[in-house]
Formats: sequence, structure tokens, C-alpha cells
Amino acid sequence: RVAVGIGSNMGDSATIVRNAIDRLGGIPGCRLLAASNMYLTEPVDYREQPHFINAAVVLETELEPLEVLHALQSIENEFGRKREIPKGPRTLDLDMLIYEGYQSESSELTLPHPEMHRRRFVLEPLAEIAAELVHDSSGLTVAQLLEKSSEHFSIVKFDK
Ligand code: ADP
Ligand code: MG
Repeated sequence: RVAVGIGSNMGDSATIVRNAIDRLGGIPGCRLLAASNMYLTEPVDYREQPHFINAAVVLETELEPLEVLHALQSIENEFGRKREIPKGPRTLDLDMLIYEGYQSESSELTLPHPEMHRRRFVLEPLAEIAAELVHDSSGLTVAQLLEKSSEHFSIVKFDK
């Protein structure tokens, strides 16, 4: 199983995230196991930008980790992703969070994702669909990471 975090804060983010979830389920060699609700979240690193819509999905895959990454990058590009300001606004960001049983520290692909364990905008949606998934570098489950997270940025369920 692979967990993917989805974020958008440019354009019609709710529609973009919903369409991205459909596209993720259609990657050859992948099957959508679960998709979270959407959440409206406060920007964390670079504060002067619109709130994000975040969600998470869990896929079952027969692809290698780098093949999954490349598929995610081509979907980002399909949705017109531009990287203008680092950590700044983006139409679609797809981060590979966990590839079950696999760890990597290269700059092209770090797994588990290096920031996921402290970010509530990642952990809350993921815990909704995969609370028991193990974060391989700490050995903790997603539910345990969420319980430990002390991040204070606001997150609200976004139902539209
Ligand atoms: P961020 O998501 O940190 O705001 P970007 O999406 O622009 O920034 O980062 C993309 C870069 O991060 C890519 O070059 C990609 O190879 C690298 N990267 C390393 N680990 C991961 C991962 N687990 N998921 C997605 N991209 C990753
Ligand atoms: Mg990214």
C-alpha cells in the first residue's frame, strides 16, 4: 500500500483535489483503496498565502516507489502545476507519504515523507482512512503520530 497526500491552494481547489483523487485511482498498476474527506487548512511554512484544501488517499500498487513518484509528478503537471515560490501557492501538490515497508533518503525520493509526522494537515486526513498504517522510520502508526503531534495550525473538515 502507498499513502499519498494531496494539497491545492490555487484555482478551484476543491474540484482539483476531487479530480486528482479520480486520476490517482486510474494510474495503471494502482487501485484506490480509500480516499479521505477534504480539509481546509491553514498554510504552515510560508504563511502569506491562501488556505489549502488537503486530502489523502491509500492506493494498492504493484509499481516500484520511483514509478509511483513519477506517476504523481505527471499528474501534478497535468493539472498545470507551477513551482514559483518554494513552499508557495500551487494548483496541485502530490506527496508520497508512505510506501509500506520501504525507506529511502535520496533527495529525489525520501520515504516516509520527511515532514509528514509533524503535520496535522497530512496526519488527520490519513488517520481517517489508514489509522493503523505504519510509518516505517518511527515504527509508529499514523494514529500514534497524530496523537503526538503538537502542531497548532487550524484544520476544519470541508464538506462541499
Ligand atoms: P513540497 O512538496 O516540499 O512543497 P515539491 O512538491 O516542489 O515541494 O517537492 C518536489 C521534490 O521533492 C521533487 O523533486 C521530488 O523528487 C522530491 N521528493 C522527495 N521525496 C518525496 C516524496 N516522498 N514525495 C514527493 N516528492 C518527493
Ligand atoms: Mg510535493
